[in-house]
Amino acid sequence: MKKYRGIFLKNDKEIGLMREANRIVSTILDELGRNVEPGVPTILFEEICRARCEEHGVRPAFLGYQGFPFALCCSVNEEIVHGFPSKERILKEGDIVSFDMGVVYEGFFGDSARTFPVGQVTDEARQLMDVTRESLMKGIEQARPGNNLYDVSAAIQTYVEGYDFGIVRRFVGHGIGARLHEKPEIPNFVPQGLTGVPLKAGMVLAIEPMVTLGSDEVEVLEDKWTAVTKDRKLSAHFEHTIAITSSGPTILSQSA
Ligand code: MG
Ligand code: MG
Repeated sequence: MKKYRGIFLKNDKEIGLMREANRIVSTILDELGRNVEPGVPTILFEEICRARCEEHGVRPAFLGYQGFPFALCCSVNEEIVHGFPSKERILKEGDIVSFDMGVVYEGFFGDSARTFPVGQVTDEARQLMDVTRESLMKGIEQARPGNNLYDVSAAIQTYVEGYDFGIVRRFVGHGIGARLHEKPEIPNFVPQGLTGVPLKAGMVLAIEPMVTLGSDEVEVLEDKWTAVTKDRKLSAHFEHTIAITSSGPTILSQSA
């Protein structure tokens, strides 16, 4: 595979495979979303996720990844990412729940995340989800040849900071392809004193802002995985895998 500054450039065939991997992820996230309601144990989403992966003949990308014990990351309220689905954790009215999942199809990865409201949520929670989703779209708009990687970061940061929300710095987006995490890292803020790489057609990026209602400080729970906000305020997460083409970004992780 061709490389530019250490970043793999995918050809049309490879992007086609990644489109299929990500389409499958998107259809599964659609179904998870349709099942979000008060009273549901979060293990249900893991079960759906595994069943659909099997039906599609794809491997869940996160299961066993660096020892992660589930196919799905399921993070409720103050949990930012890497939460465990559980039969004890029952969703209740007013919660928000973030699903992050990936699959491997024909050797290529898909990766996408969304946050859903459980029943009726507060205006603040609703706004947090809207701003996080919209910041992702602002970032994606900048993912075009001729721009710099940090144009993506800056667009997300500027949008989120306009609402005075926190941007998690501990976790960042990433290149994706034949591996789940490839170069480059894609921060959701512009790192001081660094210059991002120029963006090129053929780059495939997983852009994934994590936004909080309070500070951006993170704590990892005793299970060694679940990342929560230190102040225990709500956190939302949206992620798309996109490909950069000569005419601009194309979102791979969508259902149609
Ligand atoms: Mg993800
Ligand atoms: Mg990711």
